[in-house]
Amino acid sequence: MPWSNWYGNQTCSPAAVLRPRAEDEVVAAVERAVRDGQVVRAAGSGHSNVALVPTDGQVLDLRELTGLVDVDREARQVRVRAGTRIHDLGPLLWEHGLSLANQGDIDGQQIAGAIATGTHGTGRQLGSLSSAVVGARLVRADGSVVSIDASTPEWLRAARTSLGALGVLTELTLQVADAYCLAAELEPCTFAELADTWRERLARHRHFLCYWFPSSAAARAWFTFDPPLGDDTVLIKTMDQVPADAEAEETPRRIDRAYRVFADPCEPTFHELEFMVPLERAVDALGELRTMLRSGHPEHPLPLEVRFVAADDAYLSPFAARASCAISVSGVMGADNAAVFADCERVFAQFGGRPHWGKWHPYGAADLSRRYPAWEDFRAVRAAFDPGGTFTNPYLEHLLGPIGSGAAR
Ligand SMILES: Cc1cc2nc3c(=O)[nH]c(=O)nc-3n(C[C@H](O)[C@H](O)[C@H](O)COP(=O)(O)OP(=O)(O)OC[C@H]3O[C@@H](n4cnc5c(N)ncnc54)[C@H](O)[C@@H]3O)c2cc1C
Repeated sequence: MPWSNWYGNQTCSPAAVLRPRAEDEVVAAVERAVRDGQVVRAAGSGHSNVALVPTDGQVLDLRELTGLVDVDREARQVRVRAGTRIHDLGPLLWEHGLSLANQGDIDGQQIAGAIATGTHGTGRQLGSLSSAVVGARLVRADGSVVSIDASTPEWLRAARTSLGALGVLTELTLQVADAYCLAAELEPCTFAELADTWRERLARHRHFLCYWFPSSAAARAWFTFDPPLGDDTVLIKTMDQVPADAEAEETPRRIDRAYRVFADPCEPTFHELEFMVPLERAVDALGELRTMLRSGHPEHPLPLEVRFVAADDAYLSPFAARASCAISVSGVMGADNAAVFADCERVFAQFGGRPHWGKWHPYGAADLSRRYPAWEDFRAVRAAFDPGGTFTNPYLEHLLGPIGSGAAR
């Protein structure tokens, strides 16, 4: 059976695509693959647009390994099976008076797939989904199931953003929050107003993000405004916490349960790159991108999205040890985006940008290792967990280098 990601730009014809429903089926699948000399790649919802999953070995599609295992209401911790979609997790947590502390702007990902690439939302005080992981269960190449938690800190820091390179996550323990509603507002402004006010807005709002529209086509692409927004305009979105029993509203503020407000509906009509730059350089980086796009690509047809994420300690987190501004640039699917993406990457490189693991970027291990202070720590855990390369593929080798050698730096 062929496998394809959500965008349809990554495909493969593996020897097997299996959909385990329980942890012991994951163990059996991994053991069988090892016996047959096959590679195993775990697949979430396939929302990554790069070749993290493709293999001619075995794809383990976790979509049927779902649901809550346990809820510790007092500690606000939940154990959740790896294939549970974020979309389904929201209502499950709400039944227990709980919510994820933060989410991204779509919710179709599986929780393990999302954390494997450091998926994030926005909020100065709020970390990525990976930072909410306090424990995990993971099947290794020898079929053993390891429990990972604060008592195994190196494993935890590696498992929080692992790209599927350590083994197959079957369960995650997440630190969550008391249930809350969000009030979301949109406000157009100019780039100069954004540059003057972003710090104050970031401090004032639980969640603050913005879109910059290089062209009037970009301003019309995902939003309807009357009168329409023109080129070189900004749309600010804020989301603030209101009580869990707040009455729902649609306008002018949208108020609803947090998990319903975070996510927007989305179709696979675009490709994206996203880089994380140090927070203090946010406006300089955005200003540089703006100058480059206005001179080199003035008709760029889609918005840039700008978000903010707290620092965390996962070895491969794009937010490792630095609070960050995440800037994403989208290109129309099917169009030739190579030139604009390459020009954007050159700007991000000036600011020490770290790419999103699930989105396009041109870097391999030599470039990436310089951007991650704990690069070798991840490689050490990888070498211990997967010495024989059961959980790898050519793209992962390109990203991380060969297992166990110190040659990547
Ligand atoms: C429309 C759209 C919007 C997006 N919005 C955001 C956003 O707001 N913020 C953001 O940060 N990102 C965003 N992304 C990127 C997305 O969150 C990541 O690419 C994420 O990894 C996708 O999760 P998935 O379940 O589809 O995993 P996949 O793409 O299927 O897999 C991603 C990685 O996870 C690994 N993996 C999956 N399951 C397991 C498991 N059980 N055990 C071990 N490894 C596993 C895979 O091997 C692979 O390396 C968006 C993507 C799209 C398409």
